[in-house]
Amino acid sequence: MKKTAVFPGSFDPITTGHEAIINRSTQLFDKVIIAIGENSTKKHMFDIEQRKRWIKQTFPENPNIEIQAYSGLTVDFCLKNKANFIVRGLRSSLDFEYEQAIALTNKELAPSIETVMLFTESKYSMVSSSIVRDIITNKGNAEQFLPKSIQID
Ligand code: ADP
Repeated sequence: MKKTAVFPGSFDPITTGHEAIINRSTQLFDKVIIAIGENSTKKHMFDIEQRKRWIKQTFPENPNIEIQAYSGLTVDFCLKNKANFIVRGLRSSLDFEYEQAIALTNKELAPSIETVMLFTESKYSMVSSSIVRDIITNKGNAEQFLPKSIQID
């Protein structure tokens, strides 16, 4: 059976940290669906179409990567797309606390779906969309934290 994983997130915007986790996930799964959550209570800086465009530019020609926007429960999105795995990235113990709560809840909601956590590489451990947004808001250059193919003016 083909192994399909969903990598859910806000990707507001996609960073080098996300890019690395996605690349590593493609080594583990036959198909990776990058799922941009639309229903978060978080306020976004970039609209969904823009976030999607940047993800597409980051992975222009990989037939094993799909990009979709979704709303509703992540587990429902997984079931609809016949994905048995959720991938998440871990940077710190703070991430761990947050991710554990989500993973345990998802396991209760949909026992057939396994959450797989990938530890970030140390060089990405300080990279986050929120820091990138802060840099952009304050007119700094966030280039080093963004995938090579995307440019934010
Ligand atoms: P969310 O709002 O769901 O946390 P994010 O886009 O911020 O969405 O993150 C999506 C996933 O990517 C989360 O599992 C997060 O921990 C992971 N992630 C974010 N930045 C990094 C990074 N630098 N290294 C590894 N994983 C990361």
